[in-house]
Amino acid sequence: TQATFDNLKGTDAKVDAFLNLNEAAALKQAAELDAKGIDPDNLLAGIPVAVKDNIVTKGLTTTAASKMLENFVPVYDATVVEKMQAHDMIIIGKTNLDEFAMGGSTENSAFKTTKNPWDVSRVPGGSSGGSAVAVAAGEVPVAFGSDTGGSIRQPASFNGIVGMKPTYGRVSRWGLIAFGSSLDQIGTMTRNVKDNAAALNIIAGNDVKDGTSSKREVPDFTAGLTGDIKGMKIALPKEYMGDGIDPKVRDVIKAAVKQFEDLGATVEEVSLPHSRYGVPAYYIIASSEASSNLQRFDGIRYGFRADDVKNLEDVYVRSRSEGFGDEVKRRIMLGTFSLSAGYYDAYFHKAGQVRTLIINDFNKVFENYDLIIGPTAPTPAFKLGDEISDPITMYMNDVLTIPVNLAGLPGMSIPAGFADGMPVGLQLIGKSFDESTLYKAGYAFE
Ligand code: GLN
Repeated sequence: TQATFDNLKGTDAKVDAFLNLNEAAALKQAAELDAKGIDPDNLLAGIPVAVKDNIVTKGLTTTAASKMLENFVPVYDATVVEKMQAHDMIIIGKTNLDEFAMGGSTENSAFKTTKNPWDVSRVPGGSSGGSAVAVAAGEVPVAFGSDTGGSIRQPASFNGIVGMKPTYGRVSRWGLIAFGSSLDQIGTMTRNVKDNAAALNIIAGNDVKDGTSSKREVPDFTAGLTGDIKGMKIALPKEYMGDGIDPKVRDVIKAAVKQFEDLGATVEEVSLPHSRYGVPAYYIIASSEASSNLQRFDGIRYGFRADDVKNLEDVYVRSRSEGFGDEVKRRIMLGTFSLSAGYYDAYFHKAGQVRTLIINDFNKVFENYDLIIGPTAPTPAFKLGDEISDPITMYMNDVLTIPVNLAGLPGMSIPAGFADGMPVGLQLIGKSFDESTLYKAGYAFE
């Protein structure tokens, strides 16, 4: 733990992955663990981990990278944090993100700009950019993130690491600061597949505090890692390899297809015809849910309150105007509009119907295939400053990851190659609750 902090201070000055370090408490926990002795069956005991700063940690400031929560110290732990602690994992600190996880470059953080360690003039992706960089820069071997529309997988792709968004319901959302509640999932970010499976083993499972968490049994995700995927049936959607995908990214994915075939799997082209409607449907659903979830930040109960307020309305209006950043305000306005009387049917309801079509597309493919593959993101990491002024371009970055959240499926990004010297991720999409097949295929591939 001491070595982790010693190393991290030099590295983080260059990449700015962390918002807040947990040094005193982590060293104390490590000393206690030394005294108690490590249980040899507990693989992850003493392992230093980083946690995205939208996952609440008791006694440790949790900001969601928003001025609104700049000084917020939670009074309870997220369920995933309790589980990490029960397994003697050591939380090193909290990582940077786009404010309230809204964004794809971590540039929407109210506090700092995280840099991609492969090229510090480029973005780390987002919104779990800090967690991805903490792993990619060698600061910690395991980090936890959240994924509402790609926020684990896209930064994993941009940083050359493994990122898993589990099936909706696989991991408790208790203590995850809510963004789009029907889409949000906490997941694992690591340097390789086996570590990832071991980390998901710890955090998965039913939780009475999250009514959407599943009661399904949790398998040992490290169990199927044999390297043998002979006979596996893999689908490649043609929509994931078409216009808008950087040709160099396509070349990496074509080489990956060849590698899967060499391993004895079959890869066939399929169609997900409604995937092109994923981005517009997602931005209506996610923003509508966000507009509702973010009502609690009213300047009264907790969080930021504007100075010199004159009356109640002034508390609400000024606290929210000054506490939220531009992207968050954009989503609140879009979401409030989509949910309002007179527009609900045309927008929110319609987006829900589109979501069903997207789910049906996936179900149809999974009648005949074990797994879907494609790129995680249309491009490698772009330059800092390049897309932040153009929200639509930024939103299109998640065109390949968003359908997976709309359908609640597990999705994983694993390193597959390079384009222009930057890492390119391969996305694996599985059947509901079939993370094991993703790990099996990913392990054989890496
Ligand atoms: N980039 C997407 C958005 O801005 C996804 C974010 C996420 O998964 N948290 O909404």
